[in-house]
Amino acid sequence: MTEKEELVKKFKLMGINEKVISAFIKIKREDFVLDEYKGEAYADVPLPIPAGQTISQPTTVVIMLDALELEEDDNVLEIGAGSGYNAALIGELCKKGRVVSIEFFKELADFAKRNIEKSKLKNVKILRGDGTKGYAKDAPYTKVICTAAIPEIPDEWVDQLEENGVIIAPVGPQYGQKMIKLKKTKKGNEITDLGDFIFVPSRGEHGYNI
Ligand code: SAH
Repeated sequence: MTEKEELVKKFKLMGINEKVISAFIKIKREDFVLDEYKGEAYADVPLPIPAGQTISQPTTVVIMLDALELEEDDNVLEIGAGSGYNAALIGELCKKGRVVSIEFFKELADFAKRNIEKSKLKNVKILRGDGTKGYAKDAPYTKVICTAAIPEIPDEWVDQLEENGVIIAPVGPQYGQKMIKLKKTKKGNEITDLGDFIFVPSRGEHGYNI
C-alpha cells in the first residue's frame, strides 16, 4: 500500500466524510510542496514551505474540512493560503461555489497561485493581504476557515458570515490552540471545541504581536 493509500484508510477509519476523502485523493499534495519534499508529500506531517511557514499535516487538513460541512455551492473565505493546498481541496469540494484565500506573505501568495494552476481549478482566488480582517469585498461567506493560529475569532469574520454559516479556526495562545467550530445562528453563536492543535501564528491586525 502506498503512503497515500495508508492515509485514505486512516481517514475512513476516522469517519471522515467521503467527499473530503475523494478530494484528498484527487488533489496532488506533491504539487504543493517544495521540490526537496516531493518524496515526503504523503507523510502525515506538516512540511516547510517558503517564508518559514508550513503546509499543514494531512490529518489536520481533513479534520478541519470535515468539520466545515462544505456544500458544492459554498462561498468560502480561507485565511492563510500558504501552499494553496487547502484552498485547492476546498475548490474541488465546492465545484459550484468559490473560495478566496488570503495570504500575508507575497512570496507565499505567488507560490500558492503557481501551485493552484497545476490543479486547473477556476474557482480558487489567492490574494495577498491581512486575512484577520476578513475580506469584505466577496462577503457574505457561507464558510470561513483559518489555517493559522489566532488569539480570538475576529468580529469581522462573524460579520462577514451568513446566518447558519460556519467558522473553523485554531484559537488561543501562540504555542497551543483549541480548534473551534463556530456556527452563526439566529439565537447567537454556537461554539464547539474540536481539540488541541498547534499552528503557525497569524500576523496582522488581529494576529499575535510578533
Ligand atoms: N492552508 C495552508 C497552510 C497555511 S500555514 C496550506 O494548505 O498550505 C498558515 C499561513 O497563514 C501561512 O502561510 C502564513 O503566512 C499565513 N498567515 C499568517 N498571518 C496571516 C494573515 N494575517 N492573513 C493571511 N495569512 C496569514
